[in-house]
Formats: sequence, structure tokens, C-alpha cells
Amino acid sequence: MSTKSVVELCAQAQELEQDAARYPDERGEILLEAAHQWNRAGQVDQAIALLHEVLTLGGEDAGFARLSLADICFEQGADSDAWGHLRALEEMEPASLGPAELVGELLERRGEYEAALHWFDRAVEAMDVTALPKPGAGPSLAAMPLFGRQRCRAKLGLPVDDLDRAADIAEDNRREFADRLDRFAAASRAAKESRPSEVQMLVWQRAEQQAAGQQWPDVFAADVLREYADIEEQLRKIADDPHITKINLVLGSVPGFAEYLRDNGGDPAQESVRLAYAEQAVTQGRLISWPPGRNELCWCGSARKYKKCCGAPTTAR
Ligand SMILES: [Zn+2]
Repeated sequence: MSTKSVVELCAQAQELEQDAARYPDERGEILLEAAHQWNRAGQVDQAIALLHEVLTLGGEDAGFARLSLADICFEQGADSDAWGHLRALEEMEPASLGPAELVGELLERRGEYEAALHWFDRAVEAMDVTALPKPGAGPSLAAMPLFGRQRCRAKLGLPVDDLDRAADIAEDNRREFADRLDRFAAASRAAKESRPSEVQMLVWQRAEQQAAGQQWPDVFAADVLREYADIEEQLRKIADDPHITKINLVLGSVPGFAEYLRDNGGDPAQESVRLAYAEQAVTQGRLISWPPGRNELCWCGSARKYKKCCGAPTTAR
């Protein structure tokens, strides 16, 4: 699936290892990415060595390292080693449960539905209950373990429960969001007939998204990492259209939206209200051009370089 050559992958892995030395605070995270590239390049031993180094760092990065080691062991047919890594992960502190959902997915792919369900359940337990999907809210990363849990329960013939119903709500939200992006793309295509087209899209950068989630918890999911990947993917699709000459992102701001609601009223949960606010934000100049340069700050507000964040080739799945 990748068009990258082995040489390129190795070069990227080496560059990441140098980055890991330069940025000690992000060492674990960067080494995980380096191990991923070594593995893709077929240099499994290199990958394993780095993953063992990440284990010594502890924390959530160590949890992800356990997951990667389990994945590699399964790939190599060393199943009992793989299960050993998962048992070790199970015994880690609850703070290290970030990988729980991914373990669920790994085991689900292998047809181990009972074990997968156990990990999806753990991921759901680690969720903030306020992150449970609400009708009409946007898509949420929090929904991913709910989907996995629902799939495994169906495979195992278990009865539908409340969390399965929450998964249905999340699926409606996801579909509504995807439809909205499709309508946006369709509108862009229609507009290209008349003139070279400039398109705009309202986005909430990470800090604003979190603040918005506190101010309007029913409207903004607290957790939208998946949403950024979706937006990036859609923007790339839109950019593929030769008639689109410019893509602007309209940056939502909590004070700006609050002021808009105070002056104009309306329900913040309604898309039409948010779009009307976006039009006002444009006139206030809250615009950035997409894509940013590879070495410029990412549009999502992560404070990382675009090439290392939403612009990374591995971000959009
Ligand atoms: Zn980003």
C-alpha cells in the first residue's frame, strides 16, 4: 500500500532516532514512530530493540511499546510471546491504558473476539463518562472502543446493551459528519463551474476545541483526535480537485462564538448556527491557509510541525 521505498523508510527511521536524541521530552513517542518505520522497512530487530528501550521509559509510551511488540510477535508466529506482552500490558498502571483500544483491534483482526472484547471493555472503562456520545454531537475518538466492543459482542452473540446503543448514536454522529464533509465537497465542486474556487472550512484548534468542550459540553466532544485526521483526509481530497485553487481554514474561537451567540441567539448544537458564526469569523480575519508548509506549525493547533502532525503520511488512515 505504501509507495515508500525501503531506503526512504530507513532514512526516515534514522532521522526519527536523531530527533529522539534532540527532544528528550518526546523521546518515547518519537522512538515508537521510529520503530514503526523500521518494522515497515523489514528491519524487525531494529524495531524490537527500540521498543524494548521505550519499555524502560514507562508510562503510556511503554504501553504502546507492549502493543507493538505483541503485534510483531503475532506477525512472526511467536503467539505465546505476544500474549505475554499483552499480559504485561494488563498489569501496567491504569494511566497506561491508552493502547487498550488498539489491543482490542489487534485481537479482533485475529478473530480473538472474547479477548478483544475484554480490551475494548477496558478502553471504555478508562473513558470519561462525559465523553459518551450524545445525539447530534460531532464524531469522537472516544467512540472507537464502543464500535469495537459492539462488533465483538455481535460476533459472540451477546445481547444489545446500553453501551451498544451509545455506539449506535456515535455511528449516527460519524455518518452525519461524513455527510457534511461530502456536502461541502459537492458544494465546492458545484462552485468550480463559475470561477476558480476558494473554499473555507470552520475548524476548532485543539486548545479552542477543549475550551469549547467545557463551555458547550453537549455540542463539542472533549476528544476529537480522530476528527483532525478525518478533516485532514477530506482536505487532501478537496485539494486533489484541480479547480480548487485555495483552501482556507476558518478558526473558531470560544470568545468569538460566545459573542456571536449573545448577539444573534441560536442553538450552538445546530450546524446552521455554527456555519453562520463561521461566516462572521471570516470577516474578522480568523483564517489560515491550508496546507501549511511542512516545517510550519500544524493547522490543528498542536504546536508541532505540520509534517510531524496532521501532515505526517501515517496520520490519515
Ligand atoms: Zn495537527
